[in-house]
Amino acid sequence: MSVLDVINEFEINVVEAFSFKVNDYRKILEEIPWYKTGVYIFFDENHQPLYVGKSEKIKDRLKSHFKGFSSETKMHIDNIKYCSLLLLKRGSTSLEWLETVVINEYKPPLNTVRNKWRWERLLTPKYKHRCKGTNSRNENCGLSALENGFCKNHGGIGKKWNELVEEDMRKLGFN
Ligand SMILES: [Zn+2]
Repeated sequence: MSVLDVINEFEINVVEAFSFKVNDYRKILEEIPWYKTGVYIFFDENHQPLYVGKSEKIKDRLKSHFKGFSSETKMHIDNIKYCSLLLLKRGSTSLEWLETVVINEYKPPLNTVRNKWRWERLLTPKYKHRCKGTNSRNENCGLSALENGFCKNHGGIGKKWNELVEEDMRKLGFN
């Protein structure tokens, strides 16, 4: 699945997408309103992706990268030649989704933290709950529930949470 496929599947509302040369960033950033939210991708001179990030205020975030104030990229700022932006609708709740999707697509070398946990947090939220059963003292059981809402001890049937997440990830083309 491509980034575009995932954007469509999850109805992520990208309102604008464009690329620019980092040399021109002052002029480009002047035209972006301060409140714009989105995901950015940095590329080297061969158009290989180096880093993907997100920000609620993308203009400020980009400025801090380009001025060498950002710890993730300051050692590599001379290699960052191009930038692509995916701007979202104001107040969009898809920002983290979009960043995760793009990181998974490009696997950029400067995004060193593995982000599988993010998928686990974002996918199948409807299954992410506690057992509906009660224990001998009539308190909530509280163990992790399986697909039908109960834990193993309280008649839970179906798949475990991590199996459901793995299924989702396979569907989306991730390993
Ligand atoms: Zn239980």
